[in-house]
Amino acid sequence: METIVASVSPQSLAQAAELLRQGQVVGMPTETVYGLAANALDGAAVARIFAAKGRPQDNPLIVHVDSVAMWETVVEHLTPAARRLIDAFCPGPLTIILPRGKRVADEVCAGLDTVAVRMPSHPAARALIKECGLPLAAPSANLSGSPSPTTAAHVLGDMDGRIPLILDGGDCGVGVESTVVTLAGEQPVLLRPGYITHEQLEQVLGCPVQLAHAVTHQLAAGEKAASPGMKYKHYAPRADVTILQGDLAQYRAFLQQHAAEGVWALCFEGEEEGLPVPAVTYGLAADDATQAHALFGALRRLDEVGAKTVYARCPSETGVGLAVYNRLLRAAAFRVVAL
Ligand code: AMP
Ligand code: MG
Repeated sequence: METIVASVSPQSLAQAAELLRQGQVVGMPTETVYGLAANALDGAAVARIFAAKGRPQDNPLIVHVDSVAMWETVVEHLTPAARRLIDAFCPGPLTIILPRGKRVADEVCAGLDTVAVRMPSHPAARALIKECGLPLAAPSANLSGSPSPTTAAHVLGDMDGRIPLILDGGDCGVGVESTVVTLAGEQPVLLRPGYITHEQLEQVLGCPVQLAHAVTHQLAAGEKAASPGMKYKHYAPRADVTILQGDLAQYRAFLQQHAAEGVWALCFEGEEEGLPVPAVTYGLAADDATQAHALFGALRRLDEVGAKTVYARCPSETGVGLAVYNRLLRAAAFRVVAL
C-alpha cells in the first residue's frame, strides 16, 4: 500500500473522511501526539488499527469525539463528575473512562465494560470528526513499543506502507499523550499523567484523585494494571536509557566517569556545553511543558544518531513533569540511579 502524506486542507480532510467511512485507517494530528484513526463503531476498521500498530489485542483504544452530544452516544451516560471535567478541560488533552455505550465496537474496549473518550482541541482532528460524522478510535500513530509520533515524518517513519493517508498538521503542541482518568470506579483514579495535571483534576473535582501505582512503578510479576497499556514496554529508543537523579554538577561528574564510545547525554537545553559526551536536549530545566513537547522527538533522535547508552537528566514529579517522568521511566525500563 502506498502511504500519502497530505497537508491539512479541505480536500485532504474530505479524502480522509471518505477513507474513514470506508473502514480505513488514517494518520491524524492532535494537540497531544499523532493518532491512528478509524471508525469506532466498526469492529473491522478498528481491527486494522491494531494490525497497523502491531498493538496487543487486550490494550483498549481512546475514542475521539467533537461534541458533548457525540460523547453521550459512546458512553452509558455522562456522570456529574465527568461533566465537571468536560466543562473545565474539554476540548483538550484529557481522556475520561466511564462505563461504555453499546454502539462502540467491542474491539475498541478490548473486552472491558468501560470506554476511554476524549474531545481533542486540534482544529484538524475536530474538522475530521465533524466531516465524517463518526466517533474515531485513535491510539498514538507509532508502532507498538516505539515513542509516540509528534510530527507527520515520525508517523511516516513507522507507518509507511501500512496506512493509505497521513494528514500533516505540523508539530504537536503538547507532545505527550492525554491525561487518562477513570471515573468508572468508586473514586477517581489518574491512570496516565499528561498536560492536564493531577493537581488540576483534584481542584476541579473537589476530591482526592488517586494516582495509579503503575504511573511511577514497575508492575510486579502477576500484578494487574488498572490500565492495560501500562504493562507494556513503551516509548523506548533502541539505546539503554538510565535516568540520573541529582543536580547538574553531579550529572556532569557521573558522565566524566562513564564517557565512552556510544554514550550520549539526554539533558536540558543549555546544559550540553562542557559535557564529556555528545548530547540531545529535551526542553528547559525550569519549564516542564517544553520538556513534554520535546521528549519523544529527542528519543527518536537518539536512535537516529546511533546512541547505545543514554544517561538522562531527571524531570520533576509534579505538574506536567509527572507526565514527562512517567514516559521517561518507561523509555528507561525503570532504571533510575540516585547520584
Ligand atoms: P494510546 O491509545 O496510545 O493513547 O493509549 C491509550 C491508553 O489508555 C492505554 O494505556 C490504554 O490501556 C488506556 N485505556 C484505554 N481504554 C481504557 C479503559 N477502558 N480502561 C482503562 N484504560 C484504558
Ligand atoms: Mg500509545
